[in-house]
Amino acid sequence: YSTAVSIEEPIAPSVPVNHTQLLINGQFVDAASGKTFPTLDPRTGDVIAHVAEGDAEDINRAVSAARKAFDEGPWPRMSGYERSKILLRFADLLEKHNDEIATLETWDNGKPYEQAARIEIPMVTRIIRYYAGWADKIHGLTVPADGAHHVQTLHEPIGVAGQIIPWNFPLLMFSWKIGPALACGNTIVLKTAEQTPLSALYASKLLYEAGLPPGVLNVVSGFGPTAGAALASHMEVDKLAFTGSTATGKAVLGLAAKSNLKSVTLELGGKSPFIICEDADVDQAVELAHLALFFNQGQCCCAGSRTYVHERIYDEFVEKSKARAMKRAVGDPFKGGIEQGPQIDSEQFEKIMKYIRSGIDSGATLETGGDRLGKKGFYIQPTVFSNVKEDMLIAQDEIFGPVQSILKFKDLSEVVKRANNSSYGLAAGVFTQNIDTANTLTRALRVGTVWINCYDVFDAAIPFGGYKMSGQGREKGIYSLQNYLQVKAVVTPLKNP
Ligand code: ADP
Repeated sequence: YSTAVSIEEPIAPSVPVNHTQLLINGQFVDAASGKTFPTLDPRTGDVIAHVAEGDAEDINRAVSAARKAFDEGPWPRMSGYERSKILLRFADLLEKHNDEIATLETWDNGKPYEQAARIEIPMVTRIIRYYAGWADKIHGLTVPADGAHHVQTLHEPIGVAGQIIPWNFPLLMFSWKIGPALACGNTIVLKTAEQTPLSALYASKLLYEAGLPPGVLNVVSGFGPTAGAALASHMEVDKLAFTGSTATGKAVLGLAAKSNLKSVTLELGGKSPFIICEDADVDQAVELAHLALFFNQGQCCCAGSRTYVHERIYDEFVEKSKARAMKRAVGDPFKGGIEQGPQIDSEQFEKIMKYIRSGIDSGATLETGGDRLGKKGFYIQPTVFSNVKEDMLIAQDEIFGPVQSILKFKDLSEVVKRANNSSYGLAAGVFTQNIDTANTLTRALRVGTVWINCYDVFDAAIPFGGYKMSGQGREKGIYSLQNYLQVKAVVTPLKNP
């Protein structure tokens, strides 16, 4: 592996950590309990900063602020254009502070700085501008009903949105959540992931600088079973949006049902098939399948984590995938040219290592990798397994790490059955030059996104979400607006129809 910089001597980040408190009603405040928790640098396991630890009491405070901001306004009653202007000013500030935010993101999460600074944070800005564009284009319909009635629908904000986000794309997930909620006029209590609290606090401060009225967005750092569960169970929260694991998704859906039946959208796990057909250009397919799995240290819900390869090109594909993984530049994510940094924390690190051992024990062929890299932090070698069989755990479970599993197939109907034989249904990749093959597979796969001859193409306008146990509802694009709107039917008799 090209460990360009010794991972034992981490590069010092150049940005101070200024915001570590909770953001409630537009003010930075300590947790009611006074407690803090450390957020760690995945490169070393060292403490970056101590962050206020919100729990149920802080969620109560934040929900009260959001409730007041919703019930008393001005936010939900402001014109869409006014809301849009605030979001656009926010986007300008994000752009201005892009590199500081990217630095915090890399420091807290371990992702390559170049990826954060050139792809993710600009995408956050793009998402906010996209939803700023929707804010003044949300309206109901006039409905032609039987009888002498004038019927119209009003599209109203739902109220207070509770939002719980994960650590793999901290600020990007923040933007997918707050963009549509704010454009539609809702107020928000957002809980960040305990591993990565920093970038959302920084960005939220900018949103207030852009003119957001107090209480419209409240950010609570803290843990899932305390702050997260309190938010999901809160009687004054009208809507819950969650991104995370399927197990936690089930738990929060239960909490929502048991409390006030708040409406819930979920973006959960995946075990996405990437199908490489016999007519594929092998070199291109190898590169794309590599990125589909290894991008973001393999910590993507839509990672192409079951690589199905047609038997005719299988041996060549395995050989070249191994070579590609061995060339992957792993090292300090602040160093230029680095493709892979450390995993997020020791828990994920241990879980991934357990899956690697399970792959070996169950008889898959370890082509390369399989071990930790360095002595400090949570670096894992890019790992490739071939001869993976359907019944192995590494072919069934979401590993969420840099572990590629390559499986062999013979014909299309067989690979469709195998690809669909999963409780997940988030995404799939199809690699072929044959339009009929592409169409057949696209229609047969039970997943929320099909990438044909590409992978991980994200855009503010493209909806994203899962079939089956990968989730409920869609984020991004026009589809996410309905998650944050109530429809009110208004009926008026017509005197002189
Ligand atoms: P992961 O295992 O990848 O950390 P989780 O689904 O546990 O994924 O975490 C995603 C988000 O859900 C985080 O913000 C986490 O704090 C939160 N969370 C975890 N457990 C709960 C829970 N019981 N109730 C509400 N939120 C939770």
